[in-house]
Amino acid sequence: MVTIETRREELKEVFAEARGCTRCPQLAATRTQVVFGAGNADADLMFVGEAPGAREDERGLPFVGAAGKMLEELLAGVDLRREDVFIANVLKCRPPGNRDPQPDEIEACESHLFKQIELIQPTVVATLGNFATKLLSGRPLGITRVHGQEQETTLGGRKVLLYPLYHPAAALYTPAMLKVLESDFARLPELLGRALTPPPAPVELVVAPHPAHAEQLGLF
Ligand code: URA
Repeated sequence: MVTIETRREELKEVFAEARGCTRCPQLAATRTQVVFGAGNADADLMFVGEAPGAREDERGLPFVGAAGKMLEELLAGVDLRREDVFIANVLKCRPPGNRDPQPDEIEACESHLFKQIELIQPTVVATLGNFATKLLSGRPLGITRVHGQEQETTLGGRKVLLYPLYHPAAALYTPAMLKVLESDFARLPELLGRALTPPPAPVELVVAPHPAHAEQLGLF
């Protein structure tokens, strides 16, 4: 049985590797830094957004701008905080001018994301918007068609519930979309409960995160 400490150490190694990534020459040249992801390395719930924006690129953390504030409010609505979940993106580098991620960039970056899922071992992976949903579902269906419809799939070698949601940035200026996003969010506790029913967690997996490690990176 692989312990949470081992998984956290491996996640740090993946981060260290991703930090110097130059697979996408343009993104590597224009980014301030790689935005690997942040949160609980042992989270049951993981969010996957699109790509870092300007604020995220500056701070090195995902979802710290206006969309991030909305994500935090949506989380609070289901009694969760950022620290309870892990937040990552399809792309770990900011596309210049916030342009869309390109297919070759998504392909080049996806192994970082799959490794994150494999090591964090979430039971529910909520995709935010089209890019994450299409990548992780492996299907071309857009978010308008599939939001709020959970599906069992295998990611990072593990069975997870994939749960597509509208991207909070899209809901920022569209009240009707925000209403849908809120009602989709409201189902998260049920989905987490469903996925978390037996088998009981092995002892190693309930060990609390080591505070020294958490400080060291400021991420996990
Ligand atoms: N939008 C995203 O998709 N990801 C972020 O980290 C911030 C905004």
